[in-house]
Amino acid sequence: MIVAKRKKIPEIFDAVKDHKNVLVLGCGTCVTVCLAGGEREVSIISSALRIASRKAGKKIKVNEFIIERQCDNVFIESAAEEIKKNDAVLSLGCGAGVQAIAERYPNTPVYAGLDTSFLGILESRGVWTEKCMQCGTCVLSDFGGICPITRCAKHMLNGPCGGSREDRCEIRADQPCAWQLIYKRLKDIGQLDKISKEYPAKNWSTSINGGSRTIIREDHRI
Ligand code: SF4
Ligand code: SF4
Repeated sequence: MIVAKRKKIPEIFDAVKDHKNVLVLGCGTCVTVCLAGGEREVSIISSALRIASRKAGKKIKVNEFIIERQCDNVFIESAAEEIKKNDAVLSLGCGAGVQAIAERYPNTPVYAGLDTSFLGILESRGVWTEKCMQCGTCVLSDFGGICPITRCAKHMLNGPCGGSREDRCEIRADQPCAWQLIYKRLKDIGQLDKISKEYPAKNWSTSINGGSRTIIREDHRI
C-alpha cells in the first residue's frame, strides 16, 4: 500500500489560511490503513485547523468529508457536492489522490495535507516499511522475493557491497543487509544457484527516473 504521513499543522494552515471554506477530504483506502488520512485524521486535522484559524483571528469554516478512493474519478464524483460548497480542498489522499482531485476540479485550489512517503507494508503495529521503489522492471523472482533495489542502500544487483557488519547494512545500521536476507531466503527455498546470476546494468528508463509513467492496456480501452 501507499504509505504517507501527516504534514504539520502550521504548514497545512499556511496553505489554506486565505480561504473562507475549506473542505478536509479524507481517503478511505491506503492512507486510512496507515493512519494518515482516514476518518479519524480528517476529524483531528479539521479540529486543529479550526483552532489555528481562531488563534490567527481568521474565520475559516472547515468542513469534513471522506471518499473511498481519491485516485479514482468514480469515487471522486461522490464528493462533487461537497467540493462545490467549498472554495478549497485540503486533500488527505496520497500524491496521486491530490492530483486526481486537482485535475477533476481545475478551478478549485487543492492542497496536500500529507507527505506521501513510499510503497510498503505494515511491519508491526505502528511500523511501516518500504518494500518497492516501483522500478518498473521487477526482479523479485530472481532474489527470493526480497527487493535489492529498495532494501539495499546501494541498489546492488550482483552481490553485497562488502561493507556489512554483523548482518547490518553499512549505510543504515538499523537495517539488515539486504544481501544477507537474499542469501538466506534463496538458501531456504533451495534456489541458491540464482545468487550466481550476473545482472547487466539495470535499465532505469522504466523507473521514475525516466519521468512520469503510463500503463496502457489496449484490451481494456474503449
Ligand atoms: S524490483 Fe522494482 S518493482 Fe520489484 S519490488 Fe523492487 S523496486 Fe519494486
Ligand atoms: S551493506 Fe548490504 S544492504 Fe547495505 S549497501 Fe551494502 S550490500 Fe546493500
